[in-house]
Amino acid sequence: PRTTPTVLQVSPLLPDLERALAERHRTVRLHELPDPERFLRERGGDVVAAVTSARFGVGDELMDALPRLGAIVHFGVGYETTDVARARARGIDVSNTPDVLTDCVADLAVGALIDVMRRLSAADRFVRAGEWSTAAFPLATRVSGKRVGILGLGRIGRAVARRLEGFGVQVSYCSRTPVPGVAYRRLPTARELAGACDALVVTVAGGAGTEGLVDAAVLDALGPRGHLVNVARGSVVDESALVTAIEEGRIAGAALDVFADEPNVPSALLDSDRVVLLPHIASATRETRAAMGDLALRNVERFLTEGVLLTPVPGPAH
Ligand code: NDP
Repeated sequence: PRTTPTVLQVSPLLPDLERALAERHRTVRLHELPDPERFLRERGGDVVAAVTSARFGVGDELMDALPRLGAIVHFGVGYETTDVARARARGIDVSNTPDVLTDCVADLAVGALIDVMRRLSAADRFVRAGEWSTAAFPLATRVSGKRVGILGLGRIGRAVARRLEGFGVQVSYCSRTPVPGVAYRRLPTARELAGACDALVVTVAGGAGTEGLVDAAVLDALGPRGHLVNVARGSVVDESALVTAIEEGRIAGAALDVFADEPNVPSALLDSDRVVLLPHIASATRETRAAMGDLALRNVERFLTEGVLLTPVPGPAH
């Protein structure tokens, strides 16, 4: 045969997924090669499928170096680092891992919301620092019955909203298109949503279409008693505006799982007791990561056997 169909692993992945790919297919780990350029030059034409994660995607240059590429399989639901329109124009389909991570991401968003409003992490630090013997911990903010705005009422946003119903929370939302079958109030802009709620939970898709969507004006609309939770992408929040808002007390607090330049966190956020900082762990449970790995693997298998993906993305990442 002219070539051996090869699966290209673009980035480090879950160890079980790496193992399964290596056992079942001719798999090359691009990031581990001493001379990746040479591989692409000499064997790029063998690659029929690429497996990657949102951190890396498949960039334009890599796409161009793989003339027989037919599938880009993303581990994770976000795929803004791959230009889907460009891939489609080259006859490449793209898949992600929707639904299987929704519950865990929503669980974490609600946990982060309660943490920042009730100041759980700050209270933990207070006890550990031995301050309990000399002072009472300052009063926090009630969660139950509050108004929470969901920015991006997709799979994860809806799962967050359903959970918050159990807290007697009044949910409202902002998405570009109205979501059918929900009774929540829809606000036309992020700013109006922020102005109408006590806490804003960001669950929109990342990418160019949502970059800086939560800007200084949105934070000011949330106001000095308002809390922000971001489990979407760091790019959605104007991070320097957020730093200013925290420093100047223009919002009450923030819980962040994602940042503009991970793993770098602005020192002003590290220094603030009103900010909960998480290392991008919203989907990071054993159960959910295993399900994501399994779904990514099944996409690869389906493509190699039938030429189609199991969970193709709906369209270009917005
Ligand atoms: P969905 O595609 O189901 O939901 C995305 C939502 O964003 C849609 O409701 C969409 O509605 C809305 N949206 C997109 N653009 C805008 C905009 N400009 N203004 C308002 N709303 C907008 O995706 P999921 O719920 O499955 O995932 C959401 C995101 O969560 C992922 O893209 C990913 O980036 C992030 N994520 C983060 C994780 C983490 O570890 N922290 C883990 C998993 C996901 P409409 O198109 O009508 O506007």
